[in-house]
Amino acid sequence: MAGAARRGFSRREAWLQQGLRLFAPDALVHTPQGHALGEVSGSMATCVGDVLRALEQLAPSRLAEEWDNVGLQVGREDWPVGRVLVALDVSPVVIEEALGQQAQMLVTHHPLIFRPLHVLDLGSPSGRMLDTLVQKRLAVAAAHTNLDSVCGGVNDLLARSVGLAAATVLQPDAVDGASGFGRVGCLSAPTTLAALAARIKTLLGLEAVRLAGRPDLPVRRVAVCSGSGSALLPAFWQSTAEAFVSGDLRYHDAREAELRDRGLIDIGHYESEVLVLEALAQDLAARLARTGDAVEVRVSRAEMPPFTIV
Ligand SMILES: [Zn+2]
Repeated sequence: MAGAARRGFSRREAWLQQGLRLFAPDALVHTPQGHALGEVSGSMATCVGDVLRALEQLAPSRLAEEWDNVGLQVGREDWPVGRVLVALDVSPVVIEEALGQQAQMLVTHHPLIFRPLHVLDLGSPSGRMLDTLVQKRLAVAAAHTNLDSVCGGVNDLLARSVGLAAATVLQPDAVDGASGFGRVGCLSAPTTLAALAARIKTLLGLEAVRLAGRPDLPVRRVAVCSGSGSALLPAFWQSTAEAFVSGDLRYHDAREAELRDRGLIDIGHYESEVLVLEALAQDLAARLARTGDAVEVRVSRAEMPPFTIV
């Protein structure tokens, strides 16, 4: 058990380092002009509002889907912040880690509050988390589909990490074509679906991936979508890419790929997104530092993927 936990930990470290290595300092270049970050700080303590403004520069909320819920989830803009922990999800493990590290704010990829709250039952599992967050004054903010979409965000990191050069957006944002969901690009050399799957396993340090389509399918152009990629399948079918790399792909998606003689590689939802955490932490810290806000931003080391391969 301890061995398995250690293996899981070192695998996760490899994923994070992959993200760190791939993320160029100028990758998150999407910085709207004219919004002075941390303008109320100076001699005053950095607060939740300063971190929210840095997040807004990094991943503008206008890029988020209408159904999404990004930005502040719990807390107050004037709560002081000296340390931030970033993770994919708010969970009891991540909350405990943040409190143990004296962090005052969590920045996660997935929103804590997503579906409408009809009751604040503090005895329910999510209610207990909200109760702890408020009592301990641990603020929470999310950057979700805006971080997926933004130029240099999760999709760009995923595209680079699977070896795509000069990837373009698979489903461009209506206003800003450089942002949007999914990416599509060319491999440096032609390969097969099975060989590409094996290469991605090595590149990302994954224990297993699932593939659909014939293993000997020739592949040169590849589309990717971080997180749950089923919604982007119509864009993939219309593209000239032979293979699609994503997470949370479904049985009927796989059957459709067989019918169309195309390839799907499911690397896992968590595994397709965890790469962004180190890059997000570094970028957030750098943006805050530029405005004189000395905030330490750490990546969660306690968070693990929800699925285990046995
Ligand atoms: Zn996700």
